[in-house]
Amino acid sequence: MLKLKNVTKGAKETIGTIRLKKDFRRNKLLNLKVAIIGAGISGLSAALLLKKLKCDVTVFEKNKYLRSEGAGIQITSNGSFVLKKLGLDKPVIRAGIKPNNLCLFDEDDFKCIGSLEILERLKGRYGRSFITLNRSLLVKILFEKVKQEKIQVKFGSRALPLVGEDGNNISISYNGKKINKDLIVVADGVGSSWKKTIFREIKNRSISQCAYRFVLNNTKLPAIFSDNNINLFFGKGRHFVTYPTGNNGMINFVFCKRESGKMINDWKEKVSKQQFLNDFEIDESLQICLPGIKNIYRWPVIESEIPITLQKKNVVMVGDAAHAMLPYMAQGANKALEDSWELSKCIKEFPLDLSKGLSRYSKKRIRRIRQLDKISNFNEKAYHLEQKILRRTFFVFLRLITVFSPNFFFKRLDWIYKHEG
Ligand SMILES: Cc1cc2nc3c(=O)[nH]c(=O)nc-3n(C[C@H](O)[C@H](O)[C@H](O)COP(=O)(O)OP(=O)(O)OC[C@H]3O[C@@H](n4cnc5c(N)ncnc54)[C@H](O)[C@@H]3O)c2cc1C
Repeated sequence: MLKLKNVTKGAKETIGTIRLKKDFRRNKLLNLKVAIIGAGISGLSAALLLKKLKCDVTVFEKNKYLRSEGAGIQITSNGSFVLKKLGLDKPVIRAGIKPNNLCLFDEDDFKCIGSLEILERLKGRYGRSFITLNRSLLVKILFEKVKQEKIQVKFGSRALPLVGEDGNNISISYNGKKINKDLIVVADGVGSSWKKTIFREIKNRSISQCAYRFVLNNTKLPAIFSDNNINLFFGKGRHFVTYPTGNNGMINFVFCKRESGKMINDWKEKVSKQQFLNDFEIDESLQICLPGIKNIYRWPVIESEIPITLQKKNVVMVGDAAHAMLPYMAQGANKALEDSWELSKCIKEFPLDLSKGLSRYSKKRIRRIRQLDKISNFNEKAYHLEQKILRRTFFVFLRLITVFSPNFFFKRLDWIYKHEG
């Protein structure tokens, strides 16, 4: 009897100690003061996930308000996984649309090379279908949640890095003030000033691609564009993609090609219709739809070198700041969401040793970035073939896969779309 009493007492003590340890760990994170630099997809998702860990989070955004530029964006199952963790998968699905098919065309004659049913196939394979929507709506949904969670967002606040003389102390310079934080999450996009100052070794690869983007109402478009499909048109040394951005009848067009001239590093460079047509001769059936066009944006496609590390002292990079890659796997936003998820997971894993958590994050993400970078670069070459014989061979290959082995098409991409951190 006495023995049993002692065992129960011992067990109670052990449970008590475990609880104390857990509370202690939680309190450590509770005290963590975090600054997020940038209120894009990576910054806002990181803010939400770190707030979930009970960190004290402040977001600095240089613009005075959330900018509404940006056309369509694709969320694949790996990105949806993170949105689900944030409880935002349903609002995002409502704001966007799930395309039915992926259709591949030869741009020369608009002839269909092959098509794959994706709505049910992807749901069956990954548990979630792809979603296409307007980028600004995704940012808005994340921001609404940030407001709900009472996370402080300082708009009109350009936050810059401040490195102490000994190189050890990294803080934030903002409005002439110096702000110290336990953790600084750099989410300031491709032109990151933090990356240049703190992570000096990382450079952008030269800009050799450009993308023209615009949205058109589907009522004026031939059926080939207005159906609820993702269409990929392979041209000579170029390609273009179209997909709906929701149930509002708007279709997103992105035209990509190699570009040797000098380009402005900005998302907002507007070009005239004529300028676009001069640069990108397009099929007449599409040209006649262009009167309805409001704005055409020309974007530089920026690709950064693969970083050696994403962490220095108490600073980590996420999203495009960490690594901007060619958009030919449509992983920009998804990678940003993955980064935020992995960061919060690693911090949670090492609540008593932040630098260990950050270093784990950096290692894990660099491994993944390398793989994503490789496949995006491979697609760039395949999508922009110049020689007729190579293009024909590529089309035959695609035709055979879509007809005889549609699952093979996605099987080789499982490591991207099945990723759950
Ligand atoms: C205006 C815009 C439109 C886009 N549209 C599309 C699209 O239609 N389709 C698509 O696939 N991708 C688009 N992208 C890219 C896509 O959003 C990114 O690839 C991906 O979401 C990762 O974003 P991010 O949050 O890392 O960086 P970004 O989306 O670039 O966000 C970075 C944020 O940091 C802010 N910032 C920069 N410097 C500072 C500073 N010093 N202090 C404080 N704040 C700072 C910027 O104002 C910006 O809000 C767009 C990006 C931008 C900025």
